[in-house]
Amino acid sequence: QWVKDLFQEVRARQPGSGAVVEEVRSLHPASHMLRPFLSPQLPPAMAEASGGRIVDVDGNEYIDCHLGFSTQSLHGHNPEPVVAYVRDRMRTGVGNGNLHPLERDLALLMREFVPHCEQFAFLNSGTEAVRTAVKLARAHTGRRMVAKFEGAVHGSYDLAVHNSAFWYHGHPAVPFPPIGPDGVGRTPFEPGVPTAGPDDLLVLPNDTAAAVELIERHAAELACVLAEPALSAFPFPEVTVPTTREVALTCRRLGVPVVLDEVLTGFRFGPGGAARAFDIPADLYCYGKVMSGLAIPISAVGGRAEIMERARTSGRYAADLGGRVSVAGTHTANHLALCASYATLSLLRDKGEEYYAETRAKVTLIRERLAVFRAEHGVPLWLTGFGDFMGGFQLLPKESFTDYREYAGAVNPALSLLSLMLRLRGVYTLNSPVFFTGGAHDKADIETVVAAVTDSMLTMRR
Ligand code: PLP
Repeated sequence: QWVKDLFQEVRARQPGSGAVVEEVRSLHPASHMLRPFLSPQLPPAMAEASGGRIVDVDGNEYIDCHLGFSTQSLHGHNPEPVVAYVRDRMRTGVGNGNLHPLERDLALLMREFVPHCEQFAFLNSGTEAVRTAVKLARAHTGRRMVAKFEGAVHGSYDLAVHNSAFWYHGHPAVPFPPIGPDGVGRTPFEPGVPTAGPDDLLVLPNDTAAAVELIERHAAELACVLAEPALSAFPFPEVTVPTTREVALTCRRLGVPVVLDEVLTGFRFGPGGAARAFDIPADLYCYGKVMSGLAIPISAVGGRAEIMERARTSGRYAADLGGRVSVAGTHTANHLALCASYATLSLLRDKGEEYYAETRAKVTLIRERLAVFRAEHGVPLWLTGFGDFMGGFQLLPKESFTDYREYAGAVNPALSLLSLMLRLRGVYTLNSPVFFTGGAHDKADIETVVAAVTDSMLTMRR
């Protein structure tokens, strides 16, 4: 009854959103925000956003801890310097499909953050960046097989979505597709993925010795290892980062390219991204999410010139490399996205260490408050992950896990009600476990969020 009342209360607060949901369901079934287990239940339809706040069509205002899948977590929605820069440039906009100095300027600016990338290709989404990096690695090595970690999120590209995090596939309690004795994922790919067979994909367990052994066994067939620096679906970096590093070092030793997927981590918690912070060597890197400004899509692949050169479209035509890889598209490196990204990263560069220190302090504050809450009330609530990302509020029997499947089994689906309870308290999140903060929020916002979370948990317990 209590759950029914909760749903009723939320519904009553957002009648306008309810109507929009029904219409969108019939017209745009792929809508992200109607995706179960990640999207908020009874999703509010949004009308406007500014800074760290968002307002729905019924006029309810929330502290936004979703921040457009975190794309707006650096500076919040519509930061004035970015808006001003983009508005100014759009007055003399040049449209798509024309060479623009910003292609140079953004690449140079990005190299200040990630000097390990000699060259870049600008694209539109993380999924596209991953797909392109895999193509480049396959062309470079002349091999087909790709390895990825169990549970790793790399977007919705055919191969990459296989064995992805449970929120791509369903309920946490649904067992993961089995991995065969040779480490190859044996379950069918998504319907609609025609080409990939087991020989194309090696699924690595989240176990250092076993993963290294599989890489050693298959090195001669591997076009690349695709890896998140730290798994977002298994948010215990102290467990996952050493595995990624060891696998990357093994790849280096055996001549297997590493594609480090920094779509979630890049630019976010230190210049240099996770590659530098965690000291993980790679050959290609994928960026997306926070590199966009004003929620205008942009992504990038960066990396060693020797591999990136295969995307060359002019001059030598990459013939001497054995042919080129098509990285073309009407909207790639589009002027609007380049402008917004350039202004966003410029703002980040200007704030420098101060931004990262402030964000770390906010997350530390939440963790400190939760430690007090656990001690006082005996509610085992944690903010998992680290920095301002890949964390989430979780009710867990213990603070850390070393086994991914054990963790996935321990994720408490009832906690998805938390996002509804938070909404009644003026805080907007995806379904737990996803929570984002950053420059968008000030200390008072953080205190409000913590109070809303702890109050919700106590109400839930009653
Ligand atoms: N790689 C990682 C690590 C991600 O977290 C995501 C999205 O969540 C993607 C790739 C896919 O990016 P996009 O949704 O922009 O296609």
